[in-house]
Order: sequence, then C-alpha cells, then structure tokens
Amino acid sequence: KLFNEVQELKGNIRVYCRIRPFLSGEDKKHTTIEYIGENGELLIANPSKQRKDGQRMFKFNKVFGPASTQEEVFLDTQPLIRSVLDGYNVCILAYGQTGSGKTYTMSGPNGASDEEWGVNCRALNDLFQISRNRRDTYMYEVGVQMIEIYNEQVRDLLANDGSQKKYPFFPCDLITPINNMHPVASTNDVLKQMQMGNSNRAVGATALNERSSRSHSIMTVHVRGVDLKTGATLRGSLHLVDLAGSERVERSEAIDSTHFLSKLSKSFIYFFYAGGHAKTLMFVQINPEIGSYSETLSTLKFAERVS
Ligand code: ADP
Ligand code: MG
Repeated sequence: KLFNEVQELKGNIRVYCRIRPFLSGEDKKHTTIEYIGENGELLIANPSKQRKDGQRMFKFNKVFGPASTQEEVFLDTQPLIRSVLDGYNVCILAYGQTGSGKTYTMSGPNGASDEEWGVNCRALNDLFQISRNRRDTYMYEVGVQMIEIYNEQVRDLLANDGSQKKYPFFPCDLITPINNMHPVASTNDVLKQMQMGNSNRAVGATALNERSSRSHSIMTVHVRGVDLKTGATLRGSLHLVDLAGSERVERSEAIDSTHFLSKLSKSFIYFFYAGGHAKTLMFVQINPEIGSYSETLSTLKFAERVS
C-alpha cells in the first residue's frame, strides 16, 4: 500500500546502485558484495547463512562499484541534467542508510576538491557551460533554492535572515518554488549559496550528521530560457534530493524516506497530468560492510520495487 504511489513511477524512473568503498577502520576482509555485473547485476551475500541460501541477486540500470569516481557517476547523469535546458523537469535522488554515501554522491565530502565534487556542483557547472555555448540562440536565467524537510516542515536554507521560519510541505512544492529563487550566474555563485545553506542547516542542530539522518535536503535549480529569435520561453527544473537515512529506527512516519518518496511521486504524477515532461533518477546507496547486511537488503528490496 505504501508503495502504490511509488509504483506509479515505474518505468519513469531510472535506478542506479552505488557502493561506497570501505572507510578506514572498517573490516575490509568481509563484505556483503559478492558480484557486480556489467549490466546492472548485483549479488549480495548474507554472512550468517550458507553461501547458496544466503545469496540474493538484484538488477538495476547500472551499478557503480566502490572504485567508481565522481566524474564517472556524473557522466552517466549528464544527458538527464542537460535536458533541463530543453524544458524538462528532472529529479535526482539519493536513497540509502546513513553513512552509505548519499551526501558524497550528491554534494561530495565536506570541503570537496574539484575532483571530489558531487552531482550538484558538476550539474550546475555543466548547465552554465552549455548555456554559454548557446548564448547566440538562447538567453538562460538560472536560480537556486535549498530547502530542508524535517517532520513535514519545510525550512528555506537560503533565507537571508537564516530564518527558522517553517512552511508545511505540499506535494506540488517540488514544482513551484516555495520561496524566492536566488539568481546564480556562475558555479562560484552556487558554491557560495551552498555554503550558506549548509551553515544554516547546521544552526540549531546537535550535529549535522544526526540531523541529516532525519531530514531530507533538496537543492532545486530553476531554468528559464528565452529563444532569442522567436521570443518563446521555456522552463525546466532540476531537483537534487539528499533523502533522510532509510534505516529502520523508531521514528515517526513523517520523516520516513519511503513516506517522502510517496509524496514526491505524487508531485510528479501531478506534474505528468499537468502535461509536463519529468525524468527521475534514483541513486541507491549501499555500504559494503557485513554488519550492514540487513539494512542493505531492505534498501535494495525497496529500490527493486520502484525500478
Ligand atoms: P550519508 O550521506 O549517506 O549519510 P556520507 O555521504 O556522509 O553518507 O558518507 C559517509 C562517509 O563515507 C563519509 O565520510 C564520506 O566521505 C565517505 N564516502 C561515501 N562515499 C564515498 C566514496 N564513493 N568514496 C570515498 N568516500 C566515500
Ligand atoms: Mg548525508
């Protein structure tokens, strides 16, 4: 029942699995990952069972192994991202338990070098570059918004007053901006906004990690393009969603990732009905540790149901 709405996205959603590498201090001798295929196959093993009984195969559009780079991951999302400039509404989500690499994929690690940049900076960088290339035919305006959803409440992370003002979350919020969009003209502008958003996010939170495991953060990029010959305008948007941790701990349904995904899918269904063009990509993040086997299994099972 919970999956019904998500199921409606079936066929309209691409699912990539990404496995993060072992971190220092983790037991590298044992892993749940048995096999990664070229065509999106992933075999995982249950450490507590005999090998044959404890294996489970999954299939995704693609699997990125622990050695995959940020660049490789980005290149696979690039066509999707570029379609924003043609008037598409694109949503890229990261789903998985806390510590599985969601933020790493979407934003990169804290204080990322250019090489470590995640999808969001690379996407903006690419959009600016393409819009410069098209400047003789199109004039593009780009604006960003960063919000946090915690307990069904939306907080604008780019509010000038670092505001703690909250708004209720409605499904269609992902399509219409909740608040003013902040105009950006370069990757540097974006980095500045992100810095501000992240520092606002930390305000009042015990620890950022603690908070990020229970809240969703969404960076939205709105693009308006004007055809210089005809004057016709088009609008596209890119939603970059770093979901709350998917782990099953005692918590209200309100902050559950699956609950959020069901709302999100509603907003996209609403959008399809409104005649828009929408494309969705989900990164299913897992970590290779044996101790995470049961969370990994439930993460993969969830992802299997939407792909
Ligand atoms: P999440 O956002 O899902 O809680 P993080 O993105 O914070 O997880 O990742 C947890 C830790 O693992 C961080 O220290 C991060 O830098 C590291 N990490 C995640 N993915 C990778 C990767 N592909 N390569 C190197 N380090 C990674
Ligand atoms: Mg995170």
